[in-house]
Amino acid sequence: MQKIQQLHKELKECRLCRDIFEHEPRPRVWGKAGAPVMLIGQAPSRKVYETGIPFNDQSGKKLRSWLGLSEEQFWNQEYLYITSMAQCFPGKAAKGGGDIKPPAICSKTWMPRIMSELHPELYLLIGSYAANYFFPKTKLTDLVFKEQSINNKPAFVLPHPSPLNRKWFKDYPAFEELKVEEIRQTVHAMLKI
Ligand code: SF4
Repeated sequence: MQKIQQLHKELKECRLCRDIFEHEPRPRVWGKAGAPVMLIGQAPSRKVYETGIPFNDQSGKKLRSWLGLSEEQFWNQEYLYITSMAQCFPGKAAKGGGDIKPPAICSKTWMPRIMSELHPELYLLIGSYAANYFFPKTKLTDLVFKEQSINNKPAFVLPHPSPLNRKWFKDYPAFEELKVEEIRQTVHAMLKI
């Protein structure tokens, strides 16, 4: 068995959070080893938990429009490897309409292995949890508007596309007016589309 297949097998079997979730963990694994773009998000939503398809929700709809990708392109596992700071839906937060933050044990356990097994040409970090993991101590807004790299490859930091984040989009219109086009062109060039 290839290393990546072994990793995915172990990941799917992970139940480390069984005692802290109110539901059975169901790790979402998505993507092929040679995918040129790695997308690293926060955690699967309830809808993703129910369907097993990443970004199969309102956030995904917005993200796909930013990236200029059809559903078919976005979910093409040879194009995008999709992972996140937590591989399972962590549950709904008691207040605010959002989800509980990703359990730290997940990124601590799995991200080093994911990063060592996969070697994409471009990284897209979605939201502050992913940004914080790779660039601690730097504010998300500062990261979004500057050039970044991970493993000597280009990386973009994007705000989370959740509708709950609409204040950020209003406060920083340059993201959708200018930055999105640069990200889209880079992604399309990597995917040769
Ligand atoms: S969130 Fe991560 S660590 Fe927790 S059960 Fe799921 S895969 Fe395992």
